[in-house]
Amino acid sequence: MTDDCLFCRIAAGTIPATIVHSDDEVVAFRDINPQAPTHVLVVPREHIVSAAELTPAQDHLWGRLLHVAQSIADDEGQTDAGYRLVTNVGRNGGQTVPHLHLHLLAGRRMTWPPG
Ligand code: 5GP
Ligand code: ZN
Repeated sequence: MTDDCLFCRIAAGTIPATIVHSDDEVVAFRDINPQAPTHVLVVPREHIVSAAELTPAQDHLWGRLLHVAQSIADDEGQTDAGYRLVTNVGRNGGQTVPHLHLHLLAGRRMTWPPG
């Protein structure tokens, strides 16, 4: 937990968010500025800056993020239609919050290539 990190504070409950999943390792909450009918951010409780910082020792955690996203997509009835999972890394990746997160975007047809 890093006091000045927005997602650490949301995970700790000191900044409110619409939480859709919470366990000892992973928290998921609705994006404040949704880009699709379902837009959920899946984050580790541990403060990791981005996917660029993940180590092999954190393979389990990365797997957990994917499985939580999968299960939320299921809960929201989006599995059959499909969805997009994105993690932005650094400046060129368009990352604005420096705490690792997976975007789960669903409920509309996504375009490719991304902007
Ligand atoms: P990034 O640009 O780093 O990939 O994604 C950060 C996301 O966090 C953005 O989609 C943005 O809308 C979302 N976000 C920023 N501040 C807040 C907040 O205070 N609460 C919630 N729920 N989402 C936020
Ligand atoms: Zn953090």
